[in-house]
Amino acid sequence: MRNVIIIGSGPAGYTAAIYAARAGLEPVLLASSVEAGGELMNTTEIENFPGFPDGIMGPDLMAKFQEQAERFGTEVILDDVTELDLRGETKTVKTGYSGDFEGRTVIFATGSAYRKLGLGDEDRLSGRGVSWCATCDGFFFKGKEIAVVGGGDSAMEEATFLTRFASKVYVIHRRDSLKASKIMQDRAFANEKIEFVWNSEVVGITGEGAVDGLTLRDTIDGSERHLAIGGLFVAIGNDPRTHLVHGQLDLTDEGTIAVEGRSSRTNLPGVFAAGDVIDPHYRQAITAAGSGTVAALDAEHYLSALDDAEKLDEEGETAEAEALIASA
Ligand SMILES: Cc1cc2nc3c(=O)[nH]c(=O)nc-3n(C[C@H](O)[C@H](O)[C@H](O)COP(=O)(O)OP(=O)(O)OC[C@H]3O[C@@H](n4cnc5c(N)ncnc54)[C@H](O)[C@@H]3O)c2cc1C
Repeated sequence: MRNVIIIGSGPAGYTAAIYAARAGLEPVLLASSVEAGGELMNTTEIENFPGFPDGIMGPDLMAKFQEQAERFGTEVILDDVTELDLRGETKTVKTGYSGDFEGRTVIFATGSAYRKLGLGDEDRLSGRGVSWCATCDGFFFKGKEIAVVGGGDSAMEEATFLTRFASKVYVIHRRDSLKASKIMQDRAFANEKIEFVWNSEVVGITGEGAVDGLTLRDTIDGSERHLAIGGLFVAIGNDPRTHLVHGQLDLTDEGTIAVEGRSSRTNLPGVFAAGDVIDPHYRQAITAAGSGTVAALDAEHYLSALDDAEKLDEEGETAEAEALIASA
């Protein structure tokens, strides 16, 4: 029986592992097979993670996270979790080929996935002009003409934010009106650096080493044209990775796992959640790492309460034992 099973190897999972391991809880971290390391494995330079004044490449940062977690005794397993039973006092976690794990607590840190356009060149040019995060990458596009795809609030927010850096921001939308709230629309319409490209969808991204343009198709007459740009921000939504816990953990209206206040506590005792999977707004490496810390501290606190409750139970103090677990 493990004290702590951590699912996910992004900044949230590894930070939870560092704290849990240093607390002597000997965590096991199920890292995923092909996607180990999380979202930062798909990017190049990270300039906003504190402690790296010259920046660091995403995969190098995640290698350091792993090294630090392993240094204190975390067991990292490169396998995917396929099924979970989180309801009882003992949690069961099934994996693709490493067998089943039983744990007293589970920290769920599976992140979230930005929706993609589904174009062949999107992955090839990811981190080379194609981005899903204006806060992360806007700084790299100083003085450039760039494009944002999408018509919702987040697309308007990204486009408006990007005008701080870019000389011009095209907002490409497949219809002739936006889904975004009126206040966000008004702000974007009033911004002289933003130009709307209506009734258009991106059907191609061009560029060898870096993005140099888009192929746009008119959604009314089907005609195609080329738009020269130096960067593309895809803002068409984000899906928290929660499918494994549907029916067990409560979700928010935004689709993230519901946690109690600023804690990582879910609706099930002994189950904690951290990182982008609980965060509909900030979704940054440093906020995910902070959230991983919270989850490890909550798990540690819960395990101590569980140990104390077991002692009380042995002494026949059942009601006190139950109250202790309920408050953990
Ligand atoms: C292209 C790009 C660039 C970015 N640049 C920056 C930046 O410059 N600065 C910044 O602060 N943030 C940046 N971000 C955002 C940042 O990557 C995320 O906020 C952060 O990675 C979230 O951490 P997380 O641990 O919650 O989730 P993730 O990093 O998404 O990690 C989730 C982990 O869970 C694993 N997992 C999922 N399902 C399973 C399963 N069934 N079994 C086992 N494991 C599973 C995944 O494989 C992954 O390892 C960027 C994001 C993207 C997409």
